[in-house]
Amino acid sequence: MIETLATYFDGQSARNRTVHLRDDGDALSFSGPETPKTIWNIRGLHPIDAPTKGQPYRLTHDAKPGARLIITDEAFIQNLISHSNHLRGGYSMRDIANIFGWTVGGLGVCAALTYLAMWILPDRVAHVLPQSWREKTGTEMETTLSGGAKRCQTPAGEHALGTIVAALAEGTPSLPAVSIHVYDMPLVNAFAVSGGKIIVTRGLLDKAETAEEFTGVLAHEMGHVWHFHPEAQIVRLGGMEVLSSIFTGTNGGNATTNVAMLATVLRSSRAAEAEADQFANEALINAKIDPKGLRSFFEKIMKMEKDQGSNGAMLGEIGSIFSTHPGTEDRIKNIQLLPSGVVAKPVLTDQEWQALKKMCG
Ligand SMILES: [Zn+2]
Repeated sequence: MIETLATYFDGQSARNRTVHLRDDGDALSFSGPETPKTIWNIRGLHPIDAPTKGQPYRLTHDAKPGARLIITDEAFIQNLISHSNHLRGGYSMRDIANIFGWTVGGLGVCAALTYLAMWILPDRVAHVLPQSWREKTGTEMETTLSGGAKRCQTPAGEHALGTIVAALAEGTPSLPAVSIHVYDMPLVNAFAVSGGKIIVTRGLLDKAETAEEFTGVLAHEMGHVWHFHPEAQIVRLGGMEVLSSIFTGTNGGNATTNVAMLATVLRSSRAAEAEADQFANEALINAKIDPKGLRSFFEKIMKMEKDQGSNGAMLGEIGSIFSTHPGTEDRIKNIQLLPSGVVAKPVLTDQEWQALKKMCG
């Protein structure tokens, strides 16, 4: 029996909870001030990525695919993987097959069932997709969605983006790893694609008046990354099959329909938007970044949308949230501000913010 302190995320909120963790050989049990006693059997445990020396080791469990247990105690990790071989690597096809109760050999025969299962269980499947698949798919989505637009990169702009991510990560150490790419596109748009990539347009940088507004939108997109929403949406639409037709151009697809299909893939549900909002709000508060920025940017978009009438498509992902769902004002009202007594920290200096805004020239 070996014990340590670890960090637990329940998969519902971005809040990290310290737990007392014990390895009982056939199960991990943990509890903490805000976490009732939980027992995860070893068989149902899965590493998010292979254990790497010096890196926090992240685990999830079949019983709660969105939850994360993060262990930094090297001795504890070594002991755990020494008696549980399946925890040594990322997800394999065998793990996925095990989850669905099939043998790897039977997968081919069960292709139709796989398809159905993916359709029925997209959120669950989204959490178990191999990282290599996420990254490859994300790169392909980025290429398609950016449609040949120039990627804007300046040292000062990249530095400012890094500063924002670091400020958010300081408040929320479990912040998912993201890469943020800015494209010279006029639409006001931001979207998260598979594999932790966030794509931002020049239109969005132009529209944002303060670094806090921009940071609010980024934090919202990070919420989608955290919850694996892009992956879940892809799976929901039929997983690999849809993707292969998008990217290989089979089924007579052309560039326009591919973009339209991707737009459908990325259109988030109202529930997903609420989850991303909640994540953003907590991440901003944790980092002492004023959530008024997120609120005022949402208000701006709402106004833009009213002005543009039905032309909500111009607003991309952000706009679609507002055009397709009622209750926008509630959403804005749901944004919690900093607790009283907490002084907001400016996320960027004025100079850094201007450098970011000018990234596309
Ligand atoms: Zn969203």
